[in-house]
Amino acid sequence: MRSLKIAALVAASWFVFPSQAQQLAGESSLLPEANYADSEVTVEQVLGYPLGTKITSPADMSRYFEALKAAYPKQVKLLEYGESWEGRTLYYAIISSEENIADFDGFMQGMQSLADPRKTSRSEAEKLINELPGSIWLSYGVHGNEISSPEASMMTAYHLLHDQREQTQRWLDNTMVFIDPLQNPDGRARFVDRYYMSVGMEHSGDRRSAEHNEPWPNGRTNHYLFDMNRDWIALTQPEISGQIDALLKYYPLVFVDLHEMGGDSTYYFTPEARPYNPLITESQRESLNWIGKNNGQWFDKKGFDYFTREIFDAFYPGYGASWPLYYGSVAMTYEMASARGHLFNRKDGDVLTYADGVQQHFIASISTIQTVSERREALLQKFWNYRKSAVEAGEDGDVRSLILPATDDPAGARKLASLLVEQGVEVKQAEQAFEVCDVDYQPGAYIVDMAQPSHRLIRTLMDEQVDMADDFLKEQEQRRKNNLPDQIYDVTGWSLPLMFNVDSHSCDDLPDVRTAMVEEGRIAPGKVVNPDAEVAFLVSWGDMNAGRFLTSALREGLSVRQSELAFTHEKAGQFPSGSLILTVADNGQALPQTLQKLAEESGATVEGVDTSWITEGPNFGSHNVSQLEAPNIGIAWDEPVSAYNAGHTRFVIERQMGYPVTAIRTMQLIQDDLNGLDVLILPEGGYDGVFTEGTVEKLKQWVSDGGVLLTLGGASAWAVDAGLLNTKLERKVPEEGVEKPAEELKIDGKVIESREQFLTEIKPHGADPDWVPGALLNAQVDTDHWLSAGVKPQVVSIYNGNDVLTPIDINHGRNIAWFADADTMLASGFLWDDIAKQLPYKPLLIWQPSGKGMVISFTQEPTYRAYMDGLNTLLMNALFLAPAKAQ
Ligand SMILES: [Zn+2]
Repeated sequence: MRSLKIAALVAASWFVFPSQAQQLAGESSLLPEANYADSEVTVEQVLGYPLGTKITSPADMSRYFEALKAAYPKQVKLLEYGESWEGRTLYYAIISSEENIADFDGFMQGMQSLADPRKTSRSEAEKLINELPGSIWLSYGVHGNEISSPEASMMTAYHLLHDQREQTQRWLDNTMVFIDPLQNPDGRARFVDRYYMSVGMEHSGDRRSAEHNEPWPNGRTNHYLFDMNRDWIALTQPEISGQIDALLKYYPLVFVDLHEMGGDSTYYFTPEARPYNPLITESQRESLNWIGKNNGQWFDKKGFDYFTREIFDAFYPGYGASWPLYYGSVAMTYEMASARGHLFNRKDGDVLTYADGVQQHFIASISTIQTVSERREALLQKFWNYRKSAVEAGEDGDVRSLILPATDDPAGARKLASLLVEQGVEVKQAEQAFEVCDVDYQPGAYIVDMAQPSHRLIRTLMDEQVDMADDFLKEQEQRRKNNLPDQIYDVTGWSLPLMFNVDSHSCDDLPDVRTAMVEEGRIAPGKVVNPDAEVAFLVSWGDMNAGRFLTSALREGLSVRQSELAFTHEKAGQFPSGSLILTVADNGQALPQTLQKLAEESGATVEGVDTSWITEGPNFGSHNVSQLEAPNIGIAWDEPVSAYNAGHTRFVIERQMGYPVTAIRTMQLIQDDLNGLDVLILPEGGYDGVFTEGTVEKLKQWVSDGGVLLTLGGASAWAVDAGLLNTKLERKVPEEGVEKPAEELKIDGKVIESREQFLTEIKPHGADPDWVPGALLNAQVDTDHWLSAGVKPQVVSIYNGNDVLTPIDINHGRNIAWFADADTMLASGFLWDDIAKQLPYKPLLIWQPSGKGMVISFTQEPTYRAYMDGLNTLLMNALFLAPAKAQ
């Protein structure tokens, strides 16, 4: 760690702002051996302060890159890839030699040719490998409070354009350097504004200081409070979907995602910790090693500490540092100890400065550029081999095609097909009915040929199970036995068809059917059938097309009814429970035009009918048909709510369902009344000790007066504790031999005969169930209840953590969904044996009526990462049908 001792710093800085003490400042201080040309575009000249002495705001970072482009128009390109939720432009710079930039389009076409061995011959590929420049994509600042890497992006760009030494120019001669300076401008803006607001006369390195402690929500996340470093499989956020769009134009050979970690650590780079995703190839691992080793040499030269092979794994494909591996890139994460401000007092007595972080990220950046330049040809060759072997694996594999029938949830299937296309997968849609692998399919089914260059990406997104290595798992079991924490870093199950609860069939053959190529587009426009209908319009419930239609109809002020039971219409046929009814009598003659617009935008099919005659099930005027009102939905916001879950939930309701949510700070929930709210959501959070007894009483009264209280994840466990939900929390099932400790201080002696017994003896009595790092579990649904209207008999939920609630008894409420039996419960991922035995039949969704209102509790987060789409209809019923049932 290259940093100042406290004593030296205090002596030098009592009379100056600490950031301007004798620290690294300005471009030349970060790499003294460089030979920088005179320039008018140092950070000081453009922004007014030496590089490394201030945390640059997103707006100023844009200004700086614009200035670089203006000064070096022939060597710098700036391109946009989207806009953040708060309206900030997302962009990347490309820096290379004048010749390379002049032929940028040629480079792009060359990489696209090399990426498709089905269209490019071996000899053409050899020519491309010989001639194309290498390429690297450096992505900085996905976590807005990991502040030093975006500053290092400016230094890296400056260095490449100004260092006159032959070595640096040689790199640019054969390398395209892509720089995404700031993946999360909204999060960084939040951090920078708050940070400078909390600074006093001197910067403080004290970790207790306001400078070092961010209020809720911190700057890590984007506007909707997503950790975007988990979003690379579901692409829910524009910051990530835009970046993927750009990557797939150029297929950069190497991808680096630059982060920060705790301030007492050092620097981390590749190779990764275990477990590895088994779909990562040996060849990729070899390249990762080249890069790590070269970084190590630079760090040795500079005297920087570092570590590899620990903590940061490469199993979950939704990290920024993982996803590019599956198009054939060599992708990795770098992590620098964070000063989280200008100064940070480390436990070892050193003071870590902001500029230290900038410098080390900069050195790692140019070290990696060097490897790409020196290994240009080998990396291109490996990329070609990767894409070629992917096609071959698809041709030779047991599964030749995947088919999404798209009949039971057309909206989910459409979104899944589009998500694949957006990630570079070729998907086709059948234009006629067909039969393959003894199954009949309707026109509209989606078909994925596994013999394509994205083969491994398809596998990791679509396979039901991706296994961790046996010896790694054995090691984890061993650690657990020895009462040590496991080394699993993130979720172990993420199969998109399971998370969307959409059917996906695999087949060892390729169907012979007329198809059309699927284009991006998550919603296929809907339509109105029989728009001149005289009596009513009906929408089948059970997918998000219908869900979006409902919210937009309510926002339009239309009168909508919802049937809790399935019905069969004389002419229009069968409609599942939950289906929507809009009568002409309620809504007037202008209805068809409005419906046309809503159907197109939502994707719903709206069927006009000229009679209300029902042959089976309730009529439109039945008491089993509820009049829906546009509910006022509030969500608890601020401490102690989980920022992730609050953000994810607000996002799902606002941006996937299309309905506004009022975020209410917990202090207001404590102090103010709850009048006028129809639904109040308590996201995951530790409300204990924050919500007073008075708050709980107020919630109870509000529910009893007709409110719908919706608790998610840990908030449901809290609701049990607080007496709002009439069930119990479970401890671990007692293990044989784990006894309650004796009360006396002196007890009879006992013989311990083996290490096994010893480990059992020291286990705590009455422990909580073992912590699960995130698996996908099947749950069964009580389809006879209105809360599950339109929902399939089986859904898939994430299971994260260790909450286990007992089933609610029938006097107090109903269990609407519960984890499936032991044989079928695990859908994807990994569970410890003990909890796998304990969870079956424990509730996922509980309904508890109370007075005029009700408590609805999901024991896990249905909005987890906004990618558990298969739970959305249950959630919509809780948000829109429940208030109608409460009144
Ligand atoms: Zn990070």
